[in-house]
Amino acid sequence: MNKNYLPKAIRHSLTIGWLYPDLMSTYGDRGNIIVLQKRCEWRNIEVKILHLNPGFDHKLLATCNMLFMGGAQDKQQQIVAQDLKKEKVETLKKMVDDGVPGLYICGAYQLLGKYYKEADGTKILGLGIFDLYTENPGENHPRLIGNIIAELAGSTWQVADGKKTTSYAPQATRHIVGFENHGGRTYLGKNVKPFAKVIKGFGNNGEDGTEGAIYKNAIGTYLHGPILPKNPEIADYLIKKALEVKYKDEIGLEDLDDSLEQKAKEIIEKRYNVKV
Ligand code: GLN
Repeated sequence: MNKNYLPKAIRHSLTIGWLYPDLMSTYGDRGNIIVLQKRCEWRNIEVKILHLNPGFDHKLLATCNMLFMGGAQDKQQQIVAQDLKKEKVETLKKMVDDGVPGLYICGAYQLLGKYYKEADGTKILGLGIFDLYTENPGENHPRLIGNIIAELAGSTWQVADGKKTTSYAPQATRHIVGFENHGGRTYLGKNVKPFAKVIKGFGNNGEDGTEGAIYKNAIGTYLHGPILPKNPEIADYLIKKALEVKYKDEIGLEDLDDSLEQKAKEIIEKRYNVKV
């Protein structure tokens, strides 16, 4: 039996920590949790979703094999920043450094950086996990809103999981599509890689052509949509990494029929005249 594939009979389990579901889900990002849950269940992987709302215990956070946090307005980001302190931050940082995969959308992505400066100059200190900062230049600068198409060029999506660096960007689906809506402009430092390169849209700041960031197996991105139903290969990447970190073994996933998702992606590519 090919050890890389999970035979139906063997059940593995994952716990997904959903950070601040009641606060950080303004743009329908909860759809990403549904995708992760279903793509596990369809593969007979038992999955538990932990709702981590303000006041959660950092010991509960440490039991998670994957993390997710959605986007929100500045107000909610301030509330979350007030709650994400001390042991919680230390636990989250250690989990990221240990390779625990996570997906952090927009406002969540910004909070994992050094700081997020709001339009009125208020600075929300971040967790410093991603080497980046975000600034909202104020009302004279438009929000960055619209459909976005970006490319997961294999060369940029290098993931160092402690032992080796592998690139993970299946060529067949190297474009990702989504929707962005943010006032903040994000600028990457040298200790973090861009998640993707913008083909159509704004991305991190509308200037340097980068979209999102990746550090170890933590992915930050501006793509709402939600991103995972539109780009199931990213969901599978997160599930695969979560299993590998938890079971300390290379684990492949059974293929699922993603023809509908691929078709939807091609429609967007055609609409914006982007070559697949
Ligand atoms: N409030 C942040 C901004 O405007 C994040 C918005 C979001 O999460 N979509 O940049």
